[in-house]
Amino acid sequence: MAVTLLKSPLLILENFIGGEFIPCNKHIDSFEPSTGEVYCKVPDSGPQEVEAAVEAAKKAFPEWSSRSPEQRAQILNKLADLLEEQLLEFAQAESRDQGKTVTFAKNVDIPRSAYNFRYFASSVLHHTTDCSQMDHLGCLNYTIRCPVGVAGLISPWNLPLYLLTWKIAPAIATGNTVVAKPSEMTSVTAWMMCKLMQKAGVPPGVVNMVFGTGPRAGDALVAHPDVPLISFTGSTLTAQIITERCAPYCKKLSLELGGKNPAIIFADADLDKCIETTVRSSFSNQGEICLCTSRIYVERSIYQTFMEEFVAAARKWKTGVPSDPSNSNGALISKEHLAKVRSFVELARSEGGTVHCGEGVDPLHLPAANANGYFMPVTVISGLSDSSAVMQEEIFGPVTCVSTFDTEEEAVAKGNGVRYGLAATVWSQDVGKVHRMAKRLQAGLVWTNCWLVRDLNLPFGGMKNSGVGREGGKDSYHFFTEVKSVTIKY
Ligand code: NAD
Repeated sequence: MAVTLLKSPLLILENFIGGEFIPCNKHIDSFEPSTGEVYCKVPDSGPQEVEAAVEAAKKAFPEWSSRSPEQRAQILNKLADLLEEQLLEFAQAESRDQGKTVTFAKNVDIPRSAYNFRYFASSVLHHTTDCSQMDHLGCLNYTIRCPVGVAGLISPWNLPLYLLTWKIAPAIATGNTVVAKPSEMTSVTAWMMCKLMQKAGVPPGVVNMVFGTGPRAGDALVAHPDVPLISFTGSTLTAQIITERCAPYCKKLSLELGGKNPAIIFADADLDKCIETTVRSSFSNQGEICLCTSRIYVERSIYQTFMEEFVAAARKWKTGVPSDPSNSNGALISKEHLAKVRSFVELARSEGGTVHCGEGVDPLHLPAANANGYFMPVTVISGLSDSSAVMQEEIFGPVTCVSTFDTEEEAVAKGNGVRYGLAATVWSQDVGKVHRMAKRLQAGLVWTNCWLVRDLNLPFGGMKNSGVGREGGKDSYHFFTEVKSVTIKY
């Protein structure tokens, strides 16, 4: 991997195919969100590059899949070690590429990426399969699990390396080979990781990285007949296209999609903890986490107190230059995304909503070098109807809306009143109430009195328009393997 800085200060990325860095003759501009400047050129790969990557992955499959889980686990652990050794370098690169703060990348993205390798290196050693007896017929039945083949992995821009490694680690731990396509907006850390793949001894062709846009590189991967499995994380709209493209081939599909996640706050909640966590759950990573809270329903009797304290706490969540450790948020991913997020705030205003802080209320004071960056202050809105697009659609930015409820029944109805069903948060000290809510809320993940506490042993995924299938722990093992039932007549 030559970090190509020749003649230009731009970083020029290359595809990683068959264990080698392969230059591409066409590129896409990649912008640095905190300055608005082009700083990197990403390969604009298409069917030809995808074909080469799939061929390399097919060639590597027989040898890699025949290794023992222990042998594969050793390499995954080595990758984790190497990532941890370069934690700061990776965190700085992720911040520059995505706009998030270095602190967030250092504490969340990169450690979790390393942990993804470590977790699956360990978990793949501990799965068991099923066995049943049919003595009356003289038969013993059992199941075996085999890797599927070449896995196509497509990831989004919000948690670039974190979500990419969440797919690569279980895919290769279970013996598959991989063609991955990271988001064209955030490809740098994936490209940096390819160098670590070489160092860790990942055999050529086991992990191939093809960079480019969704409609060209992504589509070529999804529609490739020799890629029987697609794991996709991204928007619901793209998932609908991918599902159609996969249908003729009956591919195995896992879809991790958008959310419009409610926080339901009962009057008996521990308000201090709740406010600190709900500010974090609404605005972490600029609100660009699929699990972020974007609708807050507060029991009417504590609404005034909640609003005063919540808005005051939100105002302390500072937005600014990503390398400054005193900032909690950096810049949004792109100019277009910033415009989209702002348009929701405008819509809220036009519908009579109150903007308590943030966009249009609290100006940001940025250094001149960042004047064209895609920054937006954290914004709290109230007074919207439940049917407003602002309350219904995923905004995926530092915007959260607050409303009220009077009864448990109403809280459930409001929480469930959108097409998404990814995550929900419930705040109450009544143990019965939190169990009832957890059961009735339509969400793949329900956190009570906390947020984003993740146990990787548990299934991760969404209901309704938030996804199809689950990954994590046993679910990843099941998704990335095919099960066979075997009957032995004795
Ligand atoms: P996106 O759907 O635009 O893109 C995601 C990936 O798909 C990118 O790599 C993109 O290049 C690729 N892609 C786009 N069109 C494609 C096509 N036609 N064929 C194949 N690939 C294609 O999503 P995004 O804007 O990058 O990410 C934000 C979305 O991701 C939000 O909706 C967010 O909620 C969701 N998300 C979900 C989870 C989860 O785990 N549920 C996690 C993170 C993000």
